[in-house]
Amino acid sequence: MLVILNAKASEKEVKEVTSRLEAWGYKIHISKGVEKIVIGGVGVPEVNELECADVLRSLPFVEDVLIIVKPYHLVAREFRPEGSVVKVDDVEIGGPKIVVMAGPCSVESYEQVLETAKAVKQAGGRILRGGAFKPSTSPYSFQGLGEEGLKILYQVKKELGLLVVTEVMDPRDVELVSQYADILQIGTRNMHNFRLLSEVGKSQKPVVLKRGFGATIEEWLLAAEYIAKEGNPNIILCERGIRTFEPFTRFTLDINAIPAVKELSHLPIIADPSHGTGRWKIVPAVAKAAIAAGADGLLIEVHPHPEQALKDGPQSLRIENFLSLMEELKAVAQAVGRTL
Ligand code: PEP
Ligand code: MN
Repeated sequence: MLVILNAKASEKEVKEVTSRLEAWGYKIHISKGVEKIVIGGVGVPEVNELECADVLRSLPFVEDVLIIVKPYHLVAREFRPEGSVVKVDDVEIGGPKIVVMAGPCSVESYEQVLETAKAVKQAGGRILRGGAFKPSTSPYSFQGLGEEGLKILYQVKKELGLLVVTEVMDPRDVELVSQYADILQIGTRNMHNFRLLSEVGKSQKPVVLKRGFGATIEEWLLAAEYIAKEGNPNIILCERGIRTFEPFTRFTLDINAIPAVKELSHLPIIADPSHGTGRWKIVPAVAKAAIAAGADGLLIEVHPHPEQALKDGPQSLRIENFLSLMEELKAVAQAVGRTL
């Protein structure tokens, strides 16, 4: 349940609520907004939730008590009605500025990452993407450079002053990847890896949580709840396309999910038109559509020579096409009251 107090409530009043919730068996998560303090009591206590809510409602300083019927609580819009902004260094995801994370699908060499990262920086981008641990459907395809790839990302990040987002696939690697990355990415194939979700939840690193390509929005938000429940509120959702009956595109970017998630959750959401389409020619149009639909940012694959890419060449933008897209996106961002 969520207990809503005025932002001016005293510490003693907050304590009065949290002590009662704890005594009933709830775990406490507090969200302090400008106007309200929302105290979330989560877990399934042995007591009657309706009766507990009535007791709390009778306290004079409690403004309202909401019983959340949705299966997720901490990521529900009600927990933070004003929306969350995830801060990574000086970059804010979920604020007025659209954030673009761009780079190659996979880290292949220092030169390849550096050349791409320079373009990201030139276009005003702050976040470099690149996979060092690659989830592959086939065990025979490229699996990534592992720690060597992380080191390349780190070196380029230091040289150009960028931030890095990279995938972590195994709960045992969270500590290692966290040493090099600013944002941890959970890929579509691992959205249901609950041990991994809990492990990144224990770290305070921001997380990009991609939607499973066969997952409903509710299942995706429950995956986010796993991370939030462990104490990490820094979650950025990423719509990366779902599997439909359409074979022309690799996946179908679910534009509906963007406004739907905005209604259901307070978390920021970005879109990945590269995996969502699988075709570089249609990436720009879908990127613009995502921003028009309210996405807080984009994750885009860029490669200096897509024809030589070890992975996802057909969906990677050439540097010149990426730079033109960044220009074109400015007008779309402006049309929906945002900046790039
Ligand atoms: C990627 O970002 O390169 C990637 C593997 O993404 P996804 O998990 O969405 O397929
Ligand atoms: Mn990829």
